[in-house]
Amino acid sequence: HAKKQGRNGYRFFEPNMNTDVRLQMQLQQDLRQAIHRDELELYYQPKMVAPDGPVTGLEALLRWQSPTHGFLTPDRFLSLAESSGLIVPIGNWVINEACRQMKVWFDQGHGDWSVAVNLSAVQLEHTSLVDVVRTALEEHELAPSHLVLEITESTAMRDAEASLKVLNQLSALGVSISIDDFGTGYSSLLYLKRLPANELKIDRGFITELAQGNDDEAIIQAIIALGKTLDMKIVAEGVETSEQQALLTRLGCDALQGYLLGRPGPAGGLLKEAVPPEKAPEPTPVFQ
Ligand code: C2E
Ligand code: MG
Ligand code: MG
Ligand code: MG
Repeated sequence: HAKKQGRNGYRFFEPNMNTDVRLQMQLQQDLRQAIHRDELELYYQPKMVAPDGPVTGLEALLRWQSPTHGFLTPDRFLSLAESSGLIVPIGNWVINEACRQMKVWFDQGHGDWSVAVNLSAVQLEHTSLVDVVRTALEEHELAPSHLVLEITESTAMRDAEASLKVLNQLSALGVSISIDDFGTGYSSLLYLKRLPANELKIDRGFITELAQGNDDEAIIQAIIALGKTLDMKIVAEGVETSEQQALLTRLGCDALQGYLLGRPGPAGGLLKEAVPPEKAPEPTPVFQ
């Protein structure tokens, strides 16, 4: 019963449809076209050992420059991409594009960098993932050690045993596995021990109000001890102040990520200086 041609020019919307629903439907229609219309872009945020230290890796963060909806971050379209299944082709594009860019950086002399890609549960559960990753690495002649796949505990736990199988296959390829937003999920320590993970990222939620002697410091200490016991590299997310940076470094984090070190920005040159968040709203690039 979709209208043939609405007054507004959109075919599939009932005129009395709730505005939110309409917007979601239009977003989904447009997102479907976004890949081949070349509207998706990856921003990159550095992972660093210290503010003045070297970059060790970069996390690829998806952005959608839509002609109708504007510049969108994942909070505006990721759940829609997941529920519609569009996250599979989009995620494949992300993996491929991140490998392509990493190869460019490698050829420019950044042989010690790795690029991290976020994975949704839908991607992890899709049968093609291992092949997609293997093919992307081959196509761009990129060594697997330059690719990190970030999954959250909740992503892995949706189908815990199946996830473990796929993650073991990915790990066998030689790519690294990173546990994102650690501390927000509900996986058991036993499961964590079985995961073939190389890196653990402490969720921003524990960093925001971090101060010496408070509960967050104690929790972070415990997470670091746990991660190190399981032989994982520890990364802190959402580092915004030099006080947080100093404390996290002293507590033993191996790398830091956050606005203090660098904001996400388009691929492009080398980091010049970290800009305080309030002075540099996105999409100010970290790279110039
Ligand atoms: P995430 O993987 O935990 O990424 C970190 C998020 O925190 C990013 O948001 C980043 O811009 C933001 N961030 C970094 N440093 C700071 C800081 O100092 N302070 C604050 N307040 N925020 C900071 P973004 O780019 O909006 O991405 C949100 C989430 O969307 C990501 O969280 C990730 O779960 C998901 N995502 C992003 N790109 C992709 C993708 O290509 N595929 C999939 N499946 N998910 C993605
Ligand atoms: Mg991430
Ligand atoms: Mg995270
Ligand atoms: Mg997150």
